[in-house]
Parts: sequence; C-alpha cells; structure tokens
Amino acid sequence: MATRDYYNILGVERGASSDDIKRAYRVLARRWHPDRNQDDADADTRFKDITEAYRTLSDPEKRVRYDRLGPLYTEDGRPPRPEDINEVVGNVWNNIFRRKKGDRGEDLRYTASLSLEEVATGTDKEVVVPRFVRCATCDGDGADPEGGKETCEVCSGSGRATGPRILSTSCYHCKGKGYNVVQRCSSCGGDGRQGVEDTIRVKVNPGVSTGQKLKVAGKGNAARGEGESGDLYVIVSVEDHPLFRRRGDDLLIELPLTFLELTEGADVSVPTLEGTTTIRIPSGSEPGKVLRLAERGLPKLGGTTRGDLHIQLMLEVPADLTPERVAALRDWADQLPPSAHPRRAQFDKLVEDRG
Ligand SMILES: [Zn+2]
Ligand SMILES: [Zn+2]
Repeated sequence: MATRDYYNILGVERGASSDDIKRAYRVLARRWHPDRNQDDADADTRFKDITEAYRTLSDPEKRVRYDRLGPLYTEDGRPPRPEDINEVVGNVWNNIFRRKKGDRGEDLRYTASLSLEEVATGTDKEVVVPRFVRCATCDGDGADPEGGKETCEVCSGSGRATGPRILSTSCYHCKGKGYNVVQRCSSCGGDGRQGVEDTIRVKVNPGVSTGQKLKVAGKGNAARGEGESGDLYVIVSVEDHPLFRRRGDDLLIELPLTFLELTEGADVSVPTLEGTTTIRIPSGSEPGKVLRLAERGLPKLGGTTRGDLHIQLMLEVPADLTPERVAALRDWADQLPPSAHPRRAQFDKLVEDRG
C-alpha cells in the first residue's frame, strides 16, 4: 500500500511532466544514495522511498492508477483490503486535526516519598528527576550551530509539500522543517535533547494519600524537534509512621497500658501530629476500647475539616518475669473473690450447664 505521497517524496507538482519527474529523481537519488550517506540511518529509507516513488510515477500506466487511487494504490493492482482503507481514513483524519508540529516528548513518572507530617501540613516538595531537556547548544534542532543546517532543496525552505496533499501537508524531505541537518550538533549527537538531573518543585496539598498522581505540566521529556514537552507525574508514596496508622483521614494509635493503669485509671501522654497531649484513661477500661480525639487526624484533601485521632487501649501482659515476681502476682490473685471477674464466672457457669 502506498501510504506515502509519491509526489511529495519527489518534490514535484501533481501535474509534473515526465521530464520533471526524471530530473527530480536523479537529483534526489544522487543526494540520498546509501553509498554517499553511510553514517545516516535515515538515508537508506529515503533512498528506497525515492526509488519506489519514481518506479510508479515514471510508468504512465501506474501513474494513472496512482492518481486515481492515491493512498489506496498497490503496485500489483490488487484491490485494497478493508484494514488498508481504515488506515488511510485514520491518517487523513490525523492530518486534518493535527496542528502541532512534531511528536510530543514522553511523559515521566516519579515516585516521591512523603512523611505523615508532610501530608498533614502540605509541602513544596523538591524532587530531582532525570529528564531530557532541549539541547542548549543547538536549541533542539540537532544541527551544529556553525553551518550544520542546509535549506531543504526540495521545498526551498518552506517545509510545505508541493500542491494539494491528503497524506501529508509537510515536505517529505525535511519533515516540514525547511532545512536538513548536514552536520550534527556535537553536544547532543543530533538528538536535540540532553539528559539532566532536574530539580523540580511540586506543590503537595494537605491530605494527599499513597498512589495519588500530581501532574507537573511540561516537566516530562522535551520533544525531539518541535513538539511540546511531556508532563511529569509525581506519584505520592506516604511513608509508614512508627506511631500513627492511617485510615482515610483518621489516624490510629495503639496505646500499650499496664493492667494497673487500665484497672485504676491513669493520665497518659499520647502523641498527636502537633505534639504531645495528656489523656485520661477511665478506671475499669477494657483493652480494645477506643478513645477518640476529635479533629486531631489528617486534613481532608481539598476540604476544611479534619479526621479524628483514635486511641486504642491495649493491655500489655508483663514480660521479664522471675519466679519471685510470678509468686507475687499469684499472691495478689489469690486475694481476689470470684466477684472480681464476673464475666469469667458467668462464662464458666454456661460451659458447665451445657454438660
Ligand atoms: Zn544539540
Ligand atoms: Zn523540505
């Protein structure tokens, strides 16, 4: 299938005479012959395209058929397949709607670790991202600044294809740039981009959570050529905290308490995001009970409210026991009447009744 525009490739008008076509072919074939362009990977493709275009347009019968079928022309004369037609329609559509020149640079992803404290307040995070930026030496065109560019001889620098075009409106030979690179930029090797470690500031709003994407427009890779830069997506990863666990906007801490503190009640220091505060453990508190400090959790993303801080009371069974310490505990337990543990007494009774 002739997905390329043969007239554009040879740089001639649609109504060009066979002499014009032959002349254009000779000039271009000499210019792009692989033997003369051994360090240019593109030249081989160009030379093949030029030869293919000439083979069709120099044969009156094939040329009539190409003029009639355009992109659906096949050299062997077989009818186009449905997928060929779809591709051509797609290409035409793209050309009508594509306004930007060149391809866009790649988007980049970068994962940024945030502490819970940073999530609480929001922050301007500095991230160091390896990315491609436009080459400073050649300003992105890939040519040596000292005479590395040559005006495109086919379109005389206009960058436009000759005559009305469907497949592409830009010149095949310079890809619409109006010039060709004859001496590559030594800084970027002709790529038009150079790799840097770029320090980028990202605004992180309070209340973000792991997995959220923060878009920094234009801080992806620069395009090769004239397209726009891609975007940078900073993926949030919130670090685990030694004290707080997160549940949405609420925070949870597990507070280890001694048996005596739970029994007797106690004033205990607990951490909050803003520092330490003292809470009262009521006497007779059961392990597992949750006390709630309203609005001491994380801020709601994009909102004005805050979550709560939940404090779960845990019983820490004594460790580091010696025989003497165990004996002391047993002495103390022996003094307790059965009514000291009413639930245990009831449980034992239910088990007994069952038989
Ligand atoms: Zn350069
Ligand atoms: Zn051109």
